[in-house]
Formats: sequence, C-alpha cells, structure tokens
Amino acid sequence: MVQRKLGVSWRAQATTLVMAAIISACSSSVSRIATSDDIGARDNWPGHGRDSDEQRFSPLQQINAGNVDKLGLAWSLDLDEVSLEATPIEVDGVIYFSGGRGFVYAVDAISGKLLWQYDPELNKDNPREARLTMNINRGVAYWDGKVYIALKDGRMVAVNAKTGEPVWISRFLRAGDLSTSTGAPRIFNGKIIIGNSGAEFGARGYVTTLDAQTGKMLWRFFTVPGDPAKGFENDAMAMAAKTWSGEWWKYGGGGTPWNGISFDREFNQILIGTGNGGPWNGKFRSQGNKANLFLASVVAVDADSGQYKWHYQYNPNDVWDRKATSDIILADLPIGGQVRKVMMQAPSNGFFYIIDRQDGKLLSAEKIGKVNWADRIDLKSGLPVERAGIRYEDAPFTIYPNDFGAHNWQASSYNPNTGLVYIPYMQGGMTYSHTKEAEQQVTEDPGRMRVRIGVDAARYNDPNDPLDGKGSLLAWDPVAQKLRWRVDYPTSKNAGTMTTAGNLVFQGNNQGLLYAYDATNGQRLWTFDTKLGIAAPPITFSVKGKQYISLLVGAGGTTGGQQGWKYGVHPRRLLTFALDAKGKLPSTPAPDFSINPLDDPSIPIDPRKVERGQKIFYGFMCSMCHSDLAPSALAPDLRESAIAFDRDAFKDLLRHGTLISRGMPQYDDLTDAEMDDLYYFIREGARQATNGDTDAAQKGQSRTPGY
Ligand code: CA
Repeated sequence: MVQRKLGVSWRAQATTLVMAAIISACSSSVSRIATSDDIGARDNWPGHGRDSDEQRFSPLQQINAGNVDKLGLAWSLDLDEVSLEATPIEVDGVIYFSGGRGFVYAVDAISGKLLWQYDPELNKDNPREARLTMNINRGVAYWDGKVYIALKDGRMVAVNAKTGEPVWISRFLRAGDLSTSTGAPRIFNGKIIIGNSGAEFGARGYVTTLDAQTGKMLWRFFTVPGDPAKGFENDAMAMAAKTWSGEWWKYGGGGTPWNGISFDREFNQILIGTGNGGPWNGKFRSQGNKANLFLASVVAVDADSGQYKWHYQYNPNDVWDRKATSDIILADLPIGGQVRKVMMQAPSNGFFYIIDRQDGKLLSAEKIGKVNWADRIDLKSGLPVERAGIRYEDAPFTIYPNDFGAHNWQASSYNPNTGLVYIPYMQGGMTYSHTKEAEQQVTEDPGRMRVRIGVDAARYNDPNDPLDGKGSLLAWDPVAQKLRWRVDYPTSKNAGTMTTAGNLVFQGNNQGLLYAYDATNGQRLWTFDTKLGIAAPPITFSVKGKQYISLLVGAGGTTGGQQGWKYGVHPRRLLTFALDAKGKLPSTPAPDFSINPLDDPSIPIDPRKVERGQKIFYGFMCSMCHSDLAPSALAPDLRESAIAFDRDAFKDLLRHGTLISRGMPQYDDLTDAEMDDLYYFIREGARQATNGDTDAAQKGQSRTPGY
C-alpha cells in the first residue's frame, strides 16, 4: 500500500524598480487616460470584474427575477480545451476569453461564431517551467482595440482585437525566478498590470506594470524583501525586511499576488492582494514570530509610480498558506454613520474585512464560517486574537479553514441594490505538523525546480460535520457583517458569482449546474444543467437591445475527479443564454467514474522504487495535474495511460517534452533512475487499481491541487 501524503498548495504564487523618469512623466494631474470603465459602460462587460470596482454587478435588468424562468440556451461553442476558469469579457458584441493553455478566442456574441483564435505556443521556449502551475488562466483584458493575455510562461501578449494577430509580446516575469502566472491582467490609465505566482516553488512575489500601447515595462513592485546584501529596492522593502528573519531570500519568500489586484481610480492607487509565505514552514523566515510583511496582505501603491502607500496584513507570520489573493471589491458603504470609500475582501482565512481605502485602516472584520484560528480581529490594533497552538510548534494542530481557504479566487460579487456580497464559501480543515522529512524538502535538491513547503499538511473533514468538505453560496451583509441567506451545495470548489440590477445572482457549481437566485432572498429561480463541472463565473451584457448571459464550462484546475469529470471525456464549452431561447446542448457523456488501468502482472515492482517514485511524483509537481494517481479533469489518469505503460515511451516523453503543446512539461532534469522510480510508482498504482483498490479515486480526496 503506497501511502499518500503531502498536502500541498501550489498555485499560490514578489523591489520596486523606481524609474524616476516615468514617475515624473506620469503624475496623476495629467488628463485621465481611458480605462476599461469607459468602454460601453452600461451594456458591456469590458473588464475582469466588469469595471475597476470589481463588483461583478451589471446594471442590466431585461433578464430579471420576474422572467428568468424563461432563460434558455442561445448557443454553445465546443472548445479544444481542458480547464476553463476565465471570466470572459465582452466589448460591443464580441466575447473575448482565454483557455487553459493561453489561447485567446474572439466569438460573435449573437451568433456564437468563432471570429479568431490566437495560439501563444505556451512554454515552447521554457518547457521545463511548465510544471510551475497547472494549465489554467483566469482571463484576458481589453483596451483600445487590443486584447491582453498574461501567459504562465512569463510573456504578456497584446492581440489585435479585430484580427487576432499579436501586436506586441513583452516579458513580465523575471527570467529564471521560479515564477509563473495564471491571473487576468487589469487595465488602468493606459497601463496594464499583472502579478506572479509560485510561492510553493521558491518565487518572490511582485507585480509588473507595462505600457498597454507598447508593452514597455513601467514599474515593478515586490511584495516581500530580497537579499539585504544586494540592497533594498525602496524604503518599503527596507521596512518589510525588519519583519523577517533567517536567510528567507534563499527560498523566495512568497507573497505572490496571483489574482486579486484592483485599480482604485478615486485614490489613483493599485490595491494588491498578496499570497502566502514560501516556504510554508515559518522556521525559515519568521523565527521569533516575525510578521513577514507583506505576506497575506493588501498593499496600496501609487498607480503612477508604484510607490508604497499603505498596507494591511490579514495574517501576520503566515504558516498555513494564508493568502489575500481573492478579488478586491471597491464600494462606498455607510460605516459608523458615515459613507466611507472602502475595499471589501474575504481572504482565505475565513473572515470578511472592510478597509478604508484612503489610509488602509481596518473598519470591521467578522467570521463568515467555520474558523478556529482566531477569536476575533481586534479593530484597534488590526491584529487577530489568535488561539493557542495554531502555529503547531510543539504538536500537530487542525485548523479551519484549510489551505484552499473559506474563500479562494472564485469571484464574489456585490450588488449595491441589495447591499449584499455573494461569496462562494468552502468549509474544511487541515492538520499541520512539523516533521524532519518535510523540513528537508526546503533545502534538498538546491537548484532543482520542485515543491518546497517544508511542513506536513493533510486536509481534514470532520465526519460529524455535514458541511465539512462542501461549499455554499453566502449572501453577506457587509455593513451589518451578518449572513442574510445561504445555499449549501453537495460539492466544494464551486464557481464564482455574478449579480445584476434584475435582482439576480448567478452561480455555477462543481456538479455542472448553473443557478439563478433571487438576490434579495436566495430563492432558486432557474437551473441549467451544463453537463460538466463549472469553475468559471458568468458574465452578462447587452447587444442590440438584448441581454445575454455567458459562461465558460470547463472543470479542471480545482474541480474534477470526485464528480466524474474526466480528462478527454467531456467537451468544454462557451455557453450563452437569452430570454425565450430554445437551444439544446449537444449530447454529452454522463459523469464517468470508470477506471481502466493498464497493467502487466509479469512486471515485477520493487517497493523501494515505488517509494522513491512517490516522492518524485509529489515533489516535482506531477500530482498538480494528475492528482493522487486518480481520475482528473485536468490530465490523463496515469494508470490508464498507454505512454505511462511503455517505459521507453514514458522516458522519451519526460526527456524531450514532446507533449508540451498539450501542456505536459519537460522533465529532462530527472535522472534515468528517477524516471524509473516514477515509472514504477505509476505501475504500482495501476496494479492496485487492477486489484480493485482504487483508493484515492473512490475517496475523491485529492490532497494536491490547492492554491
Ligand atoms: Ca499557496
């Protein structure tokens, strides 16, 4: 019996290069340059969170709570894709979106006809680095006739919105720094900004700003300090470095801002949500309970210069993969008898926070669900009142929420009419402990591209708590900091939400059901079975006086095996809905729970090789896509793979990276003996499955693809 361990979160995700000339050239007094907010304000969905407030609220109300039962499928478009997480955008009747391997698509919103697609040939020049994250992308940006895609291989591409031809290609990641990127870029003041990811592999977090017209780099802000011997990039980094200990820079530090980044036009600042510490093990960076700025924080920087303005840290001294990388929503809210310009965020730690955007002062914070690491957040100091033992220094500790968080990247939305925030909530625990073996992970194989979290962590669901391991839609009143209504789902990791002036909330779930709810009371008004798990949030827009809802359907990165969504079985699609439409979804296979292992009982399996192979499987990110040798929506079940069955073909694939166009990384840095070990680990899994032990698959407990 092969023991499966190592709960790891992966996708998580770092000096300010001050360029004096640029700062002086771009002061905020210069007349405002158009942002995505200005594009067809009412009818379009021109940006990731619709407009820069990131409320994911549309003023359209042709489709409303009174007629949503007449909503039907207008058209569907099949896509050669695996995992679809992107929020599409829509500008003047054209829908633009990204696929998992960074393809960009343009589709006519009325007819569903594909207008063009752009293939970036992802990781063609750095196929080894393809392993740094799954093949996922959360969306494109639009500005002035160009569509922008940030690729996981470090390139930003501006694509002509009419033709699909690249206009410019620019690197936004530093070469060779173990960074990758999966997020949607944001547009502001004629500039484009994107963060990085990879805290679990040794990345240092940062955002990079480029000129949207030319691709020229303007400024970069690191979220954690680098090697003091090299000098700090700015005063903010010098300040932050005082909150670190040891030789943290050797391991990256983390703090990667891989998703939530908002442009606050009222204060001309960028709000950056930062990720967890790297490694997770605090012994390498926060001995003596150092806060480790700016991990798990929101940091405000000047939009023109990238200079630090203020920060608020949600989790000082993060040792649990805590991150503030969910979308950051901006609004005016009445707090304490006065309208305040605030930002709202439910970071992964289970609290809902309201922060004054002017100065970063914490206004309120309350628990949205099962949270056992803190009693409350002290508003005066802004610090959490932590419970004893949560840092597991002396004994293992089971903490709620787990590494996925009570809320992750899956978008929340805010409806100013109802005053409610609609949050995709998740519940579950995680048991953290220190072991020598886990700790070695951080320092072993220096120079090799591998996982370095350095703690032992296993997800835990209480069998006596029916909500553990599941997800809910929460309608949260941010002013009262109270739950108004909730809908519980049988699945975890459901999709993000969208809300409208038609008093509606839309959300898809891991079972493949797209729902519309009454935004005021949560009554379920409409359901559509998309026949595949949904990870992405819907959008709405209007063309020629008619309102549409569009959604990408593509289980993958965070959804999959447990619901029978299997790689290569279920078609991925773009669906669009309208009132009175009568379209039919093309036929789709039912959920597939079958496991068809390939095994030759005459192959002798050496348990020592299996044990070593298991470490490689987890250590070198194979599990990120292939799950725990289990069915996966993101990649083939290796127990069924003909290539993994043929030792020579298997090694050839690893060495030469011949399937890079499908997203399979190159592993030419593994030795022949290591490839052998990996081969026998897979053989053992296939043999177990042949003998009826499908273990991980049946339990549906993939511990791997976190964030
Ligand atoms: Ca992480």
